[in-house]
Amino acid sequence: MTIEYQELLVGGRWTRPEGRSRIEVVSAATEEPLGGVPEGTAADIDRAVAAARAAFDDPRGWAAWSPRRRADVLLRLADALDKRNAETVRRVSTQNGMPVTTGARSEGSAPAALLRYYSALVTEEQAEVPRRGMAGGTIIVRGNPVGVVAAIVPWNFPQTLTFAKLAPALAAGCTVVVKPAPHTVLDAFLLAEAVVEAGLPQGVVSIVPGGAEVGAHLVAHPGVDKVAFTGSTATGRAIAEVCGRLLRPVTLELGGKSAAILLDDVDLPAVLPELAAGTLGNNGQACFLSTRILAPRRRYDEVVDAVTAMAAGLRIGDPLDPATQLGPLVTARQRERVEAFIAAGRAEGGRVTTGGGRPATRERGWYVEPTVFTGLDNHGIVCREEIFGPVLAVLEYENTEQAVALANDTEYGLAGTVWTPDEARGLALARRLRTGTVGVNGYTVDIMAPFGGVKASGLGRELGPEALAAYREPQSVYLPHRDWTGR
Ligand code: NAD
Repeated sequence: MTIEYQELLVGGRWTRPEGRSRIEVVSAATEEPLGGVPEGTAADIDRAVAAARAAFDDPRGWAAWSPRRRADVLLRLADALDKRNAETVRRVSTQNGMPVTTGARSEGSAPAALLRYYSALVTEEQAEVPRRGMAGGTIIVRGNPVGVVAAIVPWNFPQTLTFAKLAPALAAGCTVVVKPAPHTVLDAFLLAEAVVEAGLPQGVVSIVPGGAEVGAHLVAHPGVDKVAFTGSTATGRAIAEVCGRLLRPVTLELGGKSAAILLDDVDLPAVLPELAAGTLGNNGQACFLSTRILAPRRRYDEVVDAVTAMAAGLRIGDPLDPATQLGPLVTARQRERVEAFIAAGRAEGGRVTTGGGRPATRERGWYVEPTVFTGLDNHGIVCREEIFGPVLAVLEYENTEQAVALANDTEYGLAGTVWTPDEARGLALARRLRTGTVGVNGYTVDIMAPFGGVKASGLGRELGPEALAAYREPQSVYLPHRDWTGR
C-alpha cells in the first residue's frame, strides 16, 4: 500500500494545497511507487510565510515566549518524533537508499536529540548579558531571534539536516518554513504529523514540499528574514546571490571533496572499518566523505589493495536489511550522474581496481558498485568534483608536506580525515587542513560541535552552541545612566 497525503502543513495545521499537482516518490531499491504528497506552489509558500510572519510578529507570540515555555513545546515535539522513529528511518531508507543502520543513528534519533539539546541550551544560558560601557554606564546585549526562517533541505540526510536548522531556529524564537527535497517528502510529512501532535502554535512551522522553483520563491520572499540551505554548491551560489542582493543573512552547507590522509605509520587493518564509513558512508551520498584517499608512496600498493578489498567487501543490498552496508542511490538520474563520473575517470586514464558498474546481484534499484580508482591526477574530474556516489580515488604522496598540499588543493573545504596511531601527529596535521571539520582516526558529525565548511563548501555553521548565533541578531541596549554593578 502506498502512503498518500492530500493536505499540506501550512501555518501549523493541515490545509488544502493551492495547486493540483503531486509529487510521487518511488523506492530507490525496488523502483516501486512509495506514495505521494501535494506539490507545494508559490501560493502555498505565500500562505506559509504569511503565517510565519504573523506568528513571529505577534507581541505575545512564540518569539516573545520565555525560552522555558518554548523548550517545553520542543520537548513535546521530540516525544512525538520518538514515537515515529522507526517509521521515519524506514521512509528515509526506502526513498533515498540509506542503509537502516545509518538511518537509525541519524534520521531516527538526531531530530529529537537536536530538539532536546537546543531546548537545554536556551534554558540554561544567560539570555541577556550586561557589559560595562567604555564611557561608563551599562550595556545589555541580547540575542533577539532573527525572524522568519526559510529552511531548504536536500534528500541525503533529510531529517537530520531539517532539524539542524529547525531545532536551533525554534529554540531561538524564530518561526520556520521548511522546504523538503521532492525525493524525500514522505518523512517530512511524519514530521508534520508530529508538529500537529505536539501542539506547536499556529504559524510557527510550515512544510511546503516542491522543487527548485518553489525553493527559489521562498528564498526571495519579502517576508523571510533568514535563509538556511544545505545542498549543492551550484544551488548554494544561486541562493547566496539572491541573499546578497537582499542583504538577507544566509547559512550555506554545501558540497565537499575531502581527503583522507593515511600517514606512513597507519595501521591499515585497524582503521579499515572506520575508513569505510568515512569514505563510502550512506552509499557515498554525504557531503563530508573523504573520497580522495592519500597514501604515502612507500605504502601505496598496500593501501590500494586494502581500500580495494574494503570497497569490494561491502555488503550491497536492500537498505531495509540491517546487514546491508551499501544501498542504492537516490534516483535513476543520480545514478546516471555517478556513472558519467566513472566514465570520465576512465577516459582520463584512471584504472578501476574494483567496481565501476552496476552490481549483477541487483536487478532493480539505482545501485552502483563501490568503485576505486588509481592512476588519477588530483586535478582530474573524479578528484575535483563532488560525485555523491560510492566512488573513491587513491592518490600517492611523497611526504606529509605534499599530502597537506594535495588535501588543500580543492575548491572545497568541508571535512577531511587523518589516519595514524600517533594522535599528536594526527592533530598537528589536522590543524593544517583548510576545512571546517577534521577527523583523526574516524569521522563522526556530532551535534555538540559546529559543522560546516570554508571555500566552496559554504558559509556559517550548523550544530553546537555556535548554530544558535545564526538564528539571532544581537541587540545592544545602552543604559548610559545605569551605574555598572557587574550584574
Ligand atoms: P540541490 O542543491 O539542487 O537541491 C537541494 C535543495 O535545494 C532541494 O530541496 C531543492 O529542491 C532545492 N533547490 C534547488 N534549486 C533551488 C533554488 N534555485 N532555490 C532554492 N532552492 C532550490 O541538490 P540536488 O539536485 O538534490 O543534488 C545535486 C547534487 O548536489 C548532488 O549530486 C550532490 O553532489 C549535491 N548535494 C549535496 C548535498 C550536501 O549535503 N552538501 C546534499 C544533496 C546534494
